Amino acid sequence: MSCIFCRIVAGEIPARIVARTDRAVTFHDVNAQAPVHLLVVPVRHVEAVRDADGAEGEALLGHLMRCAADAATAAGLDASGYRIITNTGEDGGQSVFHLHLHVLGGHPLTWPPP
Ligand code: AMP
Repeated sequence: MSCIFCRIVAGEIPARIVARTDRAVTFHDVNAQAPVHLLVVPVRHVEAVRDADGAEGEALLGHLMRCAADAATAAGLDASGYRIITNTGEDGGQSVFHLHLHVLGGHPLTWPPP
């Protein structure tokens, strides 16, 4: 298994996991870009948001967004706010080709991103 996020999901490489459901795992980004920087990834390997198609994909996207919001709440970000993003493909800046939502917060975030 070569996908690094599949290996984290499988417990083959360590990560600071904060939550897990039957369909998603949430853990700290190893190279945090904000005081809170979490990643929410599906257990099932899906390359990017465009590949989460059909009824199952649509339900999965909703579940990932729910997990991201719950992770933000658990991290204490509800009052101050936060950002949820997903990078797709080369121009989007995607570097790991296993779908993931970034949850960023803990200080003011610039827009557009630098
Ligand atoms: P993206 O550039 O949107 O594909 O985001 C991939 C993210 O995964 C980056 O923010 C990386 O810092 C993060 N990352 C890569 N490897 C690991 C790892 N082993 N554990 C946690 N985060 C990782």
